[in-house]
Amino acid sequence: MLTTLKQIVQEMNRIPALDTALFRLASRVKQTLGVNSCSIYLADDEAQVFTLKATDGLHPDAVELVRIGYAEGLIGLVGQREEPLNIANAQHHPRFKHYPEVKEDNYNAFLGTPIIHQRKVLGVITLQQSEMRRFSEDEEAFLVTLAAQLALEITNADIRGALNNTSSIETIVQQKNVRGIAGSPGLAIGVGFAPDKSVNLKNYVIKRSASPATEIQLYRKGVEVTREHVDNLSHRLDEGIPDDVKAIFQLYHQLLDANSLGREVEEKIREGWEAGSALKMVVDGYAARFQAMDDPYMQERAIDIVDLSDRILANILIEANGKVNEERQAIQPSILVAEEVSATMLAEFPRQHLKGIISIRGSNNSHAAILARAMGVPAVMGCQSVSPSLLEGKEILLDGYAGEVIISPERNIKAEFTQLIEEESAITERIDAEAGQPCESVDGCRMSLYINAGLSADVESNADGIGSGIGLYRTEIPFMLRERFPSEQEQVELYRQVLESAPNLPITMRTLDVGGDKPLPYFPINEENPFLGWRGVRLTLDHPEIFLVQVRAMLRASIGFKNLQIMLPMISTVGEVQEAKRLINQAYLEICDEVHETGERPNRPKLGIMLEVPSVLYQLPQLAKHVDFFSVGSNDLTQYLLAVDRNNTRVASLYNSYHPAVLGALYDIVQQANNNNIPVTICGEIAGEPAGAILLMGMGYRKLSMSAFNLRKINWLIRKVTLEESKQLLALALTSISHEEVFSHLNEYLETKGLGGLIRAGA
Ligand code: PEP
Ligand code: MG
Repeated sequence: MLTTLKQIVQEMNRIPALDTALFRLASRVKQTLGVNSCSIYLADDEAQVFTLKATDGLHPDAVELVRIGYAEGLIGLVGQREEPLNIANAQHHPRFKHYPEVKEDNYNAFLGTPIIHQRKVLGVITLQQSEMRRFSEDEEAFLVTLAAQLALEITNADIRGALNNTSSIETIVQQKNVRGIAGSPGLAIGVGFAPDKSVNLKNYVIKRSASPATEIQLYRKGVEVTREHVDNLSHRLDEGIPDDVKAIFQLYHQLLDANSLGREVEEKIREGWEAGSALKMVVDGYAARFQAMDDPYMQERAIDIVDLSDRILANILIEANGKVNEERQAIQPSILVAEEVSATMLAEFPRQHLKGIISIRGSNNSHAAILARAMGVPAVMGCQSVSPSLLEGKEILLDGYAGEVIISPERNIKAEFTQLIEEESAITERIDAEAGQPCESVDGCRMSLYINAGLSADVESNADGIGSGIGLYRTEIPFMLRERFPSEQEQVELYRQVLESAPNLPITMRTLDVGGDKPLPYFPINEENPFLGWRGVRLTLDHPEIFLVQVRAMLRASIGFKNLQIMLPMISTVGEVQEAKRLINQAYLEICDEVHETGERPNRPKLGIMLEVPSVLYQLPQLAKHVDFFSVGSNDLTQYLLAVDRNNTRVASLYNSYHPAVLGALYDIVQQANNNNIPVTICGEIAGEPAGAILLMGMGYRKLSMSAFNLRKINWLIRKVTLEESKQLLALALTSISHEEVFSHLNEYLETKGLGGLIRAGA
C-alpha cells in the first residue's frame, strides 16, 4: 500500500498543472482501491464553498460547476468536523444534499477526508461506492495519508498561482506571500530579475570527440578565463567586505585547481569526450556526492561547484564557437532571483540596482547569504515554493528580517511597505545621530553593549564599532569554511587579529561549538537527534587534541594582550567545567613553558560558561564557584526549555524567546547570578531585539551582547526608556499567558513612547 501511495504522489508531482494532476490522482486512487468514484473538492475561502475540481466516477461536466457551501452537505460536514466521515449509506444521512449534476444516485458508501495544511482545511477528497458498506480501516488510513501529502502539493500549487491557470503555472496575477529563510536583514522593493542561465551543465547534451588535444586546450582556456573572472569579481566587491568573506572566492580557486576537478575532467577528455561533456560528467558526480551528504554545509557546496562549472562551460563554448554571449543586465531596482544564488552571481550584479536577493535553494549558511549580509543587501533564502521564471519581471517586496516575500503586492500593502522602508531609513538617521552616546536609560541605568562576532551574523557593513567589547566570538565559522581543522598557527593568526582589533576591550572567545546545526564538512557526525547529541563542549572534551590546539592558539594569540576571555558552550554539568579547566590549565602551562626563553607569558584569561542547557539553571551556585562569568545563550536555552528545534520550520511558531516561561528562566538566572556575585551577560538574539533589551534591563541584566547590526538601535532605544517602566513591563510579561500577550504589552508601551513603527515587538 505504501509503495502504491508513494507512486501516486510521485506521479502527481511530475504533472505541473494542478488540475491535471488532481484528475490523474483521482483516477489512480479509484483504480488502486477498486471503488466507483474518487473526487477532490477544493476550498474557496472568499466564496465559502468547496468546488469540485477533479473526479473519476462522478459526471465530468460537474467539475467546476458544483460548489458546495461550507455548511452544506456531507462535503461541508467533513470540512467542519476536520475528520474523516465513513458511512455505508450516504443518501440516508441527515446532512446528505442532492446535487443532480454529479449523478451519484447509484452510490451509497461514502468516505470523505479533509485535506488540511497547517490547521487550515484546503479541501476534501472522497471515495464512493454503490455497494452499501463502510470503508475498511485500511482504506480510510490510505485516504488520510494521501490527503496529508496532497495538502502539501496544493499549498505549493496555490503559491505558484496554478489554481487559476491550467496551461501554465508561471502566472501570478494576485498577491502571493511566500515564506523562506531570513538570509540577510532589511526591507527591499524591486522587480524580479532572473539572470539568464541558458548555458548550464544540467541541460547540456553530452558528445564524443576525436581530438582530445584540442578539447584539453579548450577546457584549460575555459578554466583560465573563469579564474580571471572570479579574480576580478573578488576585487570588484565593495571595500567594506571583510577579508574573511572575500575568502569565499578562495574556495572557487581551489575548485579550479588543476589538481582536483581539472585532473578528472582531462582524464575523461582523453577517454574520448569533448570538453563540456567531460566537465558535465565529472561535475554531476561531484554535485551528487555533495548533495547526498547529510551535512547541510556540504550540501551547500554543491551550489558553488555547479555555479563555477556552468561558468567554465560558458567560457568553453565561447572559446569553441567564437561567440560572446550578450548577457542581459538589470537596469532598474531589482531583486535578484535564482534557483541557487551564488557568491559570484551576487558580485557581478550591478550594485546600484541590487536591492534584494531571493534564492530558491540554500540557507543562511550559503555563501550568497554570508556575502549579502556583508554587503548589507536583504536576502531571503530557501524560497522553495516559487521559481525564478515565476518571479521574473514581477514586483516584489522582500522582508529579510522575517524571511518573507510578497509577489505582485496589492496597492495598500505596497504603500505600507514603502512606508516601513521610509521609517526604517528615518529611524536609522535618528539612531545614527546618537551613535556613540552613552547607553543609559532616562533614569540613569547604565547598560553595556557588546557585539557577537565571528563572520556569521556580524559582518553587516554598517557595524558601528564593537561597543564595550566582544561578548561572543563564535569560532566555528572559520572551521566550517575550511576543508580540514585549521592548524594551531592558522588559528593563532586569526585570533590575534580579533584581539588586536580592540586591545583594551574584553574579547570573549567561545571554544568550538560544532555539532547540532553546525556540522563540520570534514568531521561528519550522524545522529538521530544532533541537538541533543555530540555538540559543543561535549565533542571537544572527547577530543582534547582539538580542544587543546584551539585553547593553545587563543593563549598564544593573546600574548601581549590582556583582553582574552574564554567561554565554554553547551555546559550541562559541573564535571565538564572541571575537565575543561584542567585542559585550559595544561595548555596555559605548556605555552608558558614554550615562551620561557623570551619571558613573554600570556595573561591568564577569565573563564566563563554559556547557560543554554536548562539543567544548569539548577546548579548555578555550584557552577559559580568554578568560573569567572556566565553568559546566557538564550537561543539554545529557548529551544531546550520549550523542546522546540530552533531550525525546524514545522514548529517555528512555537519557538519564541518571549514565551513567559523563557522570560521567567532568564529572570531567575540574573537574580541567581547577582546573589552569587558573578557577572552575567546575555548573548542570544533576544539581547539585540528592542523588546528583549527593555525586558532584560528590567530583569537586571546590565550587559547585552548582540550582532553589530543591532548595536546602534539598542543604544538609541535604551536612551529613550526608563528602568522603572521596564520593570513594570517585565511584571506584565512574566504574568502573561503567551508570547503574543507579551508582545502586545510591549507594543502598547512602545506606541505610547512614540517609538512604534519599525521598533516593534515580534516584528
Ligand atoms: C545561543 O545559543 O543563544 C548562542 C548565542 O549561541 P549559538 O546561537 O551560536 O548557538
Ligand atoms: Mg548556543
